[in-house]
Amino acid sequence: MSLSAQQRREKYGELAIIGFNGRLPRGDRGRKRSKITLYKRPEANGIKLTKNIVDTKTSEPELLRSDVHSITYAFPNSTAVIMEYDSDKDTDMFQIGRSSAASIDFVIMETASIQRNVMMSRSSVSRFACRILIDRQNPKIAKIFAGGFNDKKSVHLGDKAINWWKKDDTIDGMTTNGVLISHPTEDFCGGDSQYGCWSEVSVGGDLYSLRKERKSRLVGKIKETENNILKDGTLINLCGVTLLWRSAEGLSKTPDKIDVEELVQNLNDDIVPDARAVKNNLVIPRKPVPNLPLPRPYAFVECGHVHFFKKSDLINKKCPLCHLSGPYIKLYMGLEPVFYVDYGPPVYAFKPCGHMATEKTVKFWSKAEIPYGGTNFIAVCPFCARPLDGFPGYVELSFRAYTN
Ligand SMILES: [Zn+2]
Ligand SMILES: [Zn+2]
Repeated sequence: MSLSAQQRREKYGELAIIGFNGRLPRGDRGRKRSKITLYKRPEANGIKLTKNIVDTKTSEPELLRSDVHSITYAFPNSTAVIMEYDSDKDTDMFQIGRSSAASIDFVIMETASIQRNVMMSRSSVSRFACRILIDRQNPKIAKIFAGGFNDKKSVHLGDKAINWWKKDDTIDGMTTNGVLISHPTEDFCGGDSQYGCWSEVSVGGDLYSLRKERKSRLVGKIKETENNILKDGTLINLCGVTLLWRSAEGLSKTPDKIDVEELVQNLNDDIVPDARAVKNNLVIPRKPVPNLPLPRPYAFVECGHVHFFKKSDLINKKCPLCHLSGPYIKLYMGLEPVFYVDYGPPVYAFKPCGHMATEKTVKFWSKAEIPYGGTNFIAVCPFCARPLDGFPGYVELSFRAYTN
């Protein structure tokens, strides 16, 4: 059997939206999906700065050459500086934004507007939010920049955007809503890592400390010792949406979709070993299930004991094993593999959403602080983006009732 064209292509990595468990609620369609895989392009489409800087009296778009990529920095006095970019046969470019223009590879909207009942943030993603340039010979060098090119190969930063001259006589700026990134301090795989400080990435790809407020006109301080090269596990925040970058190398060390299903199957084999239980559906579903009146797994938050109930049986329910009353959460499997940091039994669950994953995965994300609203940072469940409840924001599950 011959491999499909896509399987033969070299995989650079995957970008997944924090808050989706394997697919968009209404299904993935074309460039609108919960995650994308970036493959080496058949032909390079990257760009590099030519140092060709055009100083103009106006910021009229007709001055732009249609054969080259350009970024226009407009000033309040109606003048503008245009920086031109040549094509670069050594890099591939991928763009992300809200626009459905052909130049955008990953079309995304703010998480809250796709996901009813979950309020992540009211701010919105830019139409041309950011671009990633990946070295075709050394895909570990994947650099992120604020701003994306439209179908006319131009980025136009209006006079409300912030811009400044650099020491090398080029100009740089920030987009209105900004692009923030946070690298893991150690290897993402294994779960011993955590996230470092967030930084804002400029249109030219430098890193700066955060502005006091998201849209403030005062830019932070440049971070000379950090760079815009994505690491396996780097988070990218586009104001209302956070993306996770997983490199191809990193993905090879953590579970894939089939592995996650196997983790669930192993757990089910352990907790409900007899056929009667399986027949009565006392299992953790391996896939999203339709809303039928069947017994579903619930965990009592205080003791972590898992029991299978029909919803109608739950009123005023106490834990049948230790008789503790108190809140219980319905359990769901965390199915999106890119959020896993290791292999293991999925016996921890986030509170209050009930998404289950491995101990290290749940503990890792409970420490990750993600931009929320204008100035706050909070820990969320990566599978649904719901803010975690209390500290530590998760519960260790116990299936004792079924294992005797
Ligand atoms: Zn109990
Ligand atoms: Zn969740």
